[in-house]
Parts: sequence; C-alpha cells; structure tokens
Amino acid sequence: AEETLRRRERLAALGEMAAGIAHEIRNPLGVVTSSVQLLESRLPDLKDNQRRLLQIILEEIGRMNRLIGDFLRFSRPAQPHLVETDLAAFLRDRLDQIAPMAAEAGVEIRQELPGQPVPVWIDGELMQQAFLNLLLNALEASEKGDSLLVGLDLRNDQAVTAIRDSGGGIAAEDLPLIFNPFFTTKEGGTGLGLANAHRIIESHNGQLTVAANPDRGTTFTVKLPLQPPDQE
Ligand code: ADP
Ligand code: MG
Repeated sequence: AEETLRRRERLAALGEMAAGIAHEIRNPLGVVTSSVQLLESRLPDLKDNQRRLLQIILEEIGRMNRLIGDFLRFSRPAQPHLVETDLAAFLRDRLDQIAPMAAEAGVEIRQELPGQPVPVWIDGELMQQAFLNLLLNALEASEKGDSLLVGLDLRNDQAVTAIRDSGGGIAAEDLPLIFNPFFTTKEGGTGLGLANAHRIIESHNGQLTVAANPDRGTTFTVKLPLQPPDQE
C-alpha cells in the first residue's frame, strides 16, 4: 500500500511538473506567433508560396496551443462552482454557438428541448467545455447531409441529454477506449476532449455514456441530477 502511495505521489509530482512546463511553453509560442505576424506585415512583396509557409507556421502554433490548453485543463481539473441553471436554455445557447460550423459543414441541427425550464446545478464554464466537446466531435464525425439531434428528457430525478449524430460512428473495438486521455483517431486530435467531458460530468455527480446507433452514427448521453447538491 505504501508502495502505491509513493508511486501515486511521484506521478502527481510528475504531472504537476509537466503542467508547469506546458504552461511555460505558451509564452515563447506567443512571441513566435506575434513575430511571424509582424514579419508578414513588414514583407509586402512576399510570394504566395512564401506567405503560405508563414500561414503554416501560424496554424501549427495554433495546434500546439490547443494541445497545451487541453492538457492543462486535463491535468489541473477545476472544482465545479455550482449555480442553478436552466439546462434547456443552456443547451439552446450551445446549439447557437455551433450553428455556424454546422451550417458550413452542411449538417442539420434538430432540437427536442422542453419549453419549460429544467433546473440543474452546474458550473456553466466547465459544463460548456463538456458539451462543446461532445457537439464538436459529433460535427467532426458528420458529413454534408447528416443530422445532429439534441434531446432533453426528465427521468428518475435526472435530466437526460442525448446528443445523437448520424456520422461515421465509432468502431466497436474503439468504444471502450474513447474516454481514455490521449486516445484519438484524428490527425491532429488531442484525445483529451472526451476525457475532460467525462471528468467534468462525473464531478457534477452525473454520468456520460456512449452507444452506437442501430442505424448510423453515435449517441452520447449526459445524465445530471435535478436536485440541488446538498439534497442528494
Ligand atoms: P479528439 O476529438 O481530439 O480526437 P476526443 O477525446 O474528443 O479527442 O475523442 C476521442 C475519439 O473518440 C475521436 O478521435 C473519435 O475517434 C471518437 N469519437 C468521439 N466522438 C465521436 C462521434 N460523435 N462520432 C464518431 N467518433 C467519435
Ligand atoms: Mg474532440
């Protein structure tokens, strides 16, 4: 037991160090970004292919920044600050947020949300991260003509949100792995989106589960308690 404790402490210390380094890498990346932007503006006679190279540098730095951001959110989980929130309105806001991307991808968004408020106790900032990860994954798996359905129901003192896409789906052998940190099948993916979403939802005493649709695509289900946290 002492061995595992020491091991856990060592891992925690390593994680803390990695998070510290990740944080410090952001500063030089910021300097590189603004230098490249300055260089581009100071060199008006750039050829197209030269301008393209500068764009590639900026894009790849953007990718590194996203990876570091995901890693930091994952390694330093925030304690949720719970506020009573209407989940139906919250979901409508998230759908408004992704509407431009869905339109661009040619994906139709359908909502089955109750007209009356559905009060839950959530940390809006953290829960927004969790739901955006699920919704953006759904869009990324979708093709033109696919649809994305977001439904909300009340069941046994829980608010049950279903996010159903008609996209490419998840291979059966991948299903048990998708919540693991760093598991990704995407080029340039971080594999931290679902791990983060899972942890955020569990920290709200909720559950995040996944199932393949019988026809096509995937459904993620988020269950959140309806009672205030002290009454559980
Ligand atoms: P990332 O999006 O960076 O790959 P995530 O943790 O968000 O990391 O997702 C992990 C993996 O789970 C994805 O790479 C993909 O293979 C799979 N996945 C997640 N959501 C969906 C979905 N709606 N449809 C198909 N595959 C999905
Ligand atoms: Mg993702």
